[in-house]
Amino acid sequence: NTFAEIDLGDALNENIRRCKYVKPTPVQRHAIPISLGGRDLMACAQTGSGKTAAFCFPIICGIMKGPPLQRPRGMRTVYPQALILSPTRELSVQIHEEARKFAYQSGVRVVVAYGGAPINQQVILFVTLAYFNHEVLFITDFQLRELERGVEILVATPGRLVDLLERARVSLQMIRYLCLDEADRMLDMGFEPQIRKIVEQMDMPQRGVIAYVLLKSCIFYSIDMNIPI
Ligand code: AMP
Repeated sequence: NTFAEIDLGDALNENIRRCKYVKPTPVQRHAIPISLGGRDLMACAQTGSGKTAAFCFPIICGIMKGPPLQRPRGMRTVYPQALILSPTRELSVQIHEEARKFAYQSGVRVVVAYGGAPINQQVILFVTLAYFNHEVLFITDFQLRELERGVEILVATPGRLVDLLERARVSLQMIRYLCLDEADRMLDMGFEPQIRKIVEQMDMPQRGVIAYVLLKSCIFYSIDMNIPI
């Protein structure tokens, strides 16, 4: 009934205290023990239900209990251990902010990658930089530099992640946790091909990747993503 009764490790417990969370919300009460037991999970939870913590706590806890973190600097390709996919830039930014609070001083690095600024802004930037004969850098190159500093938990929108995979900036070979947040909304928005491409790179059933699928509404989609739930 309280977080103190769940063994999430010292760093995470301290951060939960800092956030002033005392009691788990219903989705947390049900989901966290299942996830800590290493099981896949599908849950239906609205924004405001505490779903972000419900999947972030087991992920951070699992990464901290794993092998010591090694992060060679300046690598072009990074190997995150957890991937959280969300449909929009706004939701990705929200998840990133929450996850960073939970992972504070734990050594677990959380990075967010989402699609660039609206296309017209990108064009203006491109033209301006090209005019002044600068090397063309998009706003999102900030995210590339953040990635190069190393990452354990990557929060991303599907399109942006496919782009990073194609440019070999990210490899999914070390992924242990996959979370599809608002999975139904991602399908409604037409992200199915991108999600398939991403999941294919993980070899999930063979490697025992743990999957969390969060739905906004209780509608079942009959697609086979080869996610072992
Ligand atoms: P979410 O559904 O993840 O968007 O969370 C909604 C809000 O509830 C966020 O501002 C969280 O910081 C907060 N929250 C999450 N879990 C708890 C909890 N156990 N106790 C109090 N607030 C919480």
